[in-house]
Amino acid sequence: MSETLKLGILEGDDIGHEIVPASVEIARAAAGAAGLSIEWTEVPIGRRALDTLGHTMPEGTLETLSRLDGFILGPIGHRDYPKVPGAINPHPILRKHFDLFANVRPTRSFPDIGCLRDDIDLVIVRENNEGFQPDRNVVMGSGEFRPTEDLTISVRVISREGSRKVARAALELARARRRRLTLVHKNTVFKLGCGMFVDSCYEVAAEFPDVAVDEVIVDTMAMRLVRDPQTFDVVVTTNMFGDILTDEAAGLVGGLGMAPGLCIGRGAIAMAQATHGSAPDIAGKGLANPYAMVESTRMLLDWLGRRREVPAAVEAAALIRRGVDHALSRPESRTRDIRGVGTQRDMVEAILAGIGRPA
Ligand code: ATP
Ligand code: MG
Repeated sequence: MSETLKLGILEGDDIGHEIVPASVEIARAAAGAAGLSIEWTEVPIGRRALDTLGHTMPEGTLETLSRLDGFILGPIGHRDYPKVPGAINPHPILRKHFDLFANVRPTRSFPDIGCLRDDIDLVIVRENNEGFQPDRNVVMGSGEFRPTEDLTISVRVISREGSRKVARAALELARARRRRLTLVHKNTVFKLGCGMFVDSCYEVAAEFPDVAVDEVIVDTMAMRLVRDPQTFDVVVTTNMFGDILTDEAAGLVGGLGMAPGLCIGRGAIAMAQATHGSAPDIAGKGLANPYAMVESTRMLLDWLGRRREVPAAVEAAALIRRGVDHALSRPESRTRDIRGVGTQRDMVEAILAGIGRPA
């Protein structure tokens, strides 16, 4: 038996209460089959934590999480929170506190689910803690300001250090894949900000002579993702460009339910987080596609397994992939958003069955 991984369960809101427990159930099954020991800790977060404990991120949350190897964060429906003290969006705080500067978001084709092509296999690495995002907790100066009633100024933060860190994460990923990295930016207009991002990426890329690096301007990239997405391997870009392009990429392969993500940093801890939101429109109906959350969880196990040299975690991740491939191969075990006729439960059962099947 290998060492025990300590993982947190943060359900989040709305469909998070369905897809996070489903992901944990699947991870438990895969871990059992692979001989991996996982110690799970449930951590209250979001609307339920507000209702029961008076805060969407109760005191002690960061301390609890810092004792773990990683955690699964369900989608947070913060836009629907009441305007009361304690109702904050915990997500930027988690990203900042654990310095989870890279958001790794893969896009992959599967047969018959409504992908626009059958040969897409790319990963967008989105810078996670800088850029335009008006988070209260981001580096000083970031955010939006309204100096007069009729004028708003949005500030975008780009640092050499932040750019280098995300570039390194993307280059390491490219090295483990097809050894190609595309920098996406708009340094034709944002000469200082995107200029610094691009220069920093090339500086780090000099340490990776085995990775071929090219660059595409973001608007061209929006077009090329539609016309020839199969030509990309790893893409690295700044926060908001990444936000938009990853939803576009999800659209190529069946929609938001097919868009997983893993937030990583230099530290040991990583956070599995699907790209999509909490989808209140379909919550509680058993219709949400669990793929994005399950695959995010699989990525977490794989990443921790490789980084911490726990082969059983890598094996558990491989079993989840097998289960997912099995579930996606039949309409009865796919949700409706991906040309299926099944419920979320049908899909989860099929993934579990696929994990248990002999290879
Ligand atoms: P956010 O700002 O948090 O990203 P959003 O406005 O982009 O939120 P989502 O909650 O991601 O909204 O949902 C957008 C649409 O995609 C909704 O109609 C929702 O039903 C659908 N959707 C999102 N996630 C899933 C999923 N896992 N399975 C099926 N449909 C989903
Ligand atoms: Mg969204």
